[in-house]
Amino acid sequence: MPEPTLRCVECGQSGLARGADGSLRCNQCGATFVRHSHRDIPIFVSSRSPLKAEEILCWKVQPQNVDLKAAQRHWKTGRMEELLKEPPGRKLLNFGSGDGGDRKWLEAAGFQVTSFDIFPGDFTDFICDGHELPFADEQFDVVTSVAVFEHLYDPFQAAREMFRVLKKGGVLIGSLAFLEPYHARSYFHMSPLGLREVLQRTGFREIEIRPGWSFIESLKGSFWLWNRVPAIRRFTGIWHRLSYRIGLGIWRAAYRMKGKKTPDDLVVTFAGSLIFCARKAQ
Ligand SMILES: [Zn+2]
Repeated sequence: MPEPTLRCVECGQSGLARGADGSLRCNQCGATFVRHSHRDIPIFVSSRSPLKAEEILCWKVQPQNVDLKAAQRHWKTGRMEELLKEPPGRKLLNFGSGDGGDRKWLEAAGFQVTSFDIFPGDFTDFICDGHELPFADEQFDVVTSVAVFEHLYDPFQAAREMFRVLKKGGVLIGSLAFLEPYHARSYFHMSPLGLREVLQRTGFREIEIRPGWSFIESLKGSFWLWNRVPAIRRFTGIWHRLSYRIGLGIWRAAYRMKGKKTPDDLVVTFAGSLIFCARKAQ
């Protein structure tokens, strides 16, 4: 599989030479990038990043943390998988791949997957900071970012990086937290308007935003401790989804009784997460 063209995250120039010990050295500024002992994954973090290569080198991979089903649940929420059906090409960057549980079925769907996250894993190709990607401009047809934006300390900068590495005509597909509780060191949960601002200001066009799971599932489901037991979660999850439908039905009936049209944004108002799709113009 052809690898994407790399660039130095310290100076932004392409041209990296491989040293005898496997490390990569920038021909321009001399910055050196080491590899993690797990699968020799290269670590591309600059001196500006809060991530430190020395710390990452000490991280061990925990196989018991790999949750392949969770990734597929993410893709089915809000029918996000449908957005992948007509890709402009097959080169896909999985931006913040987590444990990489979706890699296998993305590859089965015909995509050439490149994935990264800030920690080593069995399905990760690069360890880097999403605010400073080690890829040259216009390398990918599709960038996927599933439940990642809320974990970025500067979502505008990360969106600029997604835009930069996309080819012209390429698409960004993903999801992010709106009405979800604070979780796993999340920074910015976005409203539909905030998300549109981030994407539009970055240069994306043809922006589509729709609801993922509802606030009832995201907030109530997370709040009650017993929902951490999978068997109980399955049962209460059915109730949460049903009660959301009932509640939404009451809203719609109320609009009808007043002789008004139900506003289009009613469903995103109560969304726990948002699904989005946007294009880099030709
Ligand atoms: Zn450099």
